[in-house]
Amino acid sequence: MTTIQPRESFALTHASVIIGDAAGTTLPDTTIVVSSDGRIEQISPSTQTTIPESYRVLDATGKTVMPGLINAHVHLFSDGRPLNPKLATPRGQRITAAIMHSPIGKPYLTARVTANARTLLASGVTTIRTLGDVGYEAVALRDRIADGRMIGPRILASGPLLAIPDGHGAPLIALTGETPDDMARNTRVNLEHGVNAIKIAATGGVTDAQRLGEAGSPQMSVDHMRAICDVAHEAGVIVAAHAQSPEGVRRALLAGVDTIEHGSALDPTTVELFRHNPHALRGWSALIPTLSAGLPMTLLDRETTGITDIQLANARTVVAGMLAGVDDAHDEELRVGVGTDTAMTFVTQYNTWRELDLLVKRAGFTAAEAIHAATQGNAEILNINDVTGSVEVGKTADLLVLEGDPLLDLRVLKTPTLIIADGRPLWHPTVKRFDDMDALLDRAYRE
Ligand SMILES: [Zn+2]
Repeated sequence: MTTIQPRESFALTHASVIIGDAAGTTLPDTTIVVSSDGRIEQISPSTQTTIPESYRVLDATGKTVMPGLINAHVHLFSDGRPLNPKLATPRGQRITAAIMHSPIGKPYLTARVTANARTLLASGVTTIRTLGDVGYEAVALRDRIADGRMIGPRILASGPLLAIPDGHGAPLIALTGETPDDMARNTRVNLEHGVNAIKIAATGGVTDAQRLGEAGSPQMSVDHMRAICDVAHEAGVIVAAHAQSPEGVRRALLAGVDTIEHGSALDPTTVELFRHNPHALRGWSALIPTLSAGLPMTLLDRETTGITDIQLANARTVVAGMLAGVDDAHDEELRVGVGTDTAMTFVTQYNTWRELDLLVKRAGFTAAEAIHAATQGNAEILNINDVTGSVEVGKTADLLVLEGDPLLDLRVLKTPTLIIADGRPLWHPTVKRFDDMDALLDRAYRE
């Protein structure tokens, strides 16, 4: 029997409240009242708030409350320890895919994705978008969480991504096809399985590239991707494209993709397409740079990451492009979101805060801009800003209670005191950390 996680009405009193806007607006000595349906019903100065008798009172004096983090690019199939390059070859992927889809592999995969989603939540992430799953395990997990059968992050689930034969992500986490019609059909297959996100492999990627220059080289035409966007947008679902070169980004934007994952240096054409994209669902597109996924491969030595010479050479090109892209996007005031590409080598499920830190250290963001990107900004990009992303009356209570002020030091995000997801409290959140990997990342990012 699964138990339904109960909700209760409560008030967080006397908190400093970061609302989630780009200016970093903070309300002093504020009380947030949450009803038993999980919604914020009142936000007001503590001295002027009357809390109904039956509500539980949680004193947050001296603490900061902010919106829960949103990670717009995760994978749940692994925990971030270095991936074996042998498993990233086409043969390795075929074997792994066969195991994962077998009667033995399925329960294993379910256990793994459940544990990884729990880790994300316990690290302060109250919403995730998966972008490339083995099957529809994230769809099932999304529904278990939404029904209250377990506490976890809200999930936008992509299912397998869409690729060309032997393209990026294929065959382990992709549905493949040759023609635009195939792409439209595969999009429908995913939608029929209930996905609420779509992911395209527009170009090759670092992890599974077998030759120099494969990462970033275009794998789909505008027509292929337009076919996908048309079907997804018809269903109101936004489309993400893995794109790691100027040409890959240009084609994906022309097709009407809503978010560019990783990215590369921009030019006047692509800047304009991000701002005004006639084929995107809302008429604009956003960049999700995922610095967390690229930098470890280029900053740590090869013995540590275990990547091949080809992966390293490709990573160097891709990381330079990614850094240039986020810099350009920030200068041009385009929409930039936060995603980390969890499950990739050295991208654990609990280090979303590091991406905010990297946006500040490597891309010129203020801490307020980085927090906004990971909360209200991401909610707008993912089309869920009517539900979450900011501390506002009527929104769902997705909240972090922190010991210090993240606007002064983002590291306080590492250890939230209390996490509230969809109105449900997660008391004493703890995560199992890989201390050796964290120490290496701390050192690499300090230099
Ligand atoms: Zn990814």
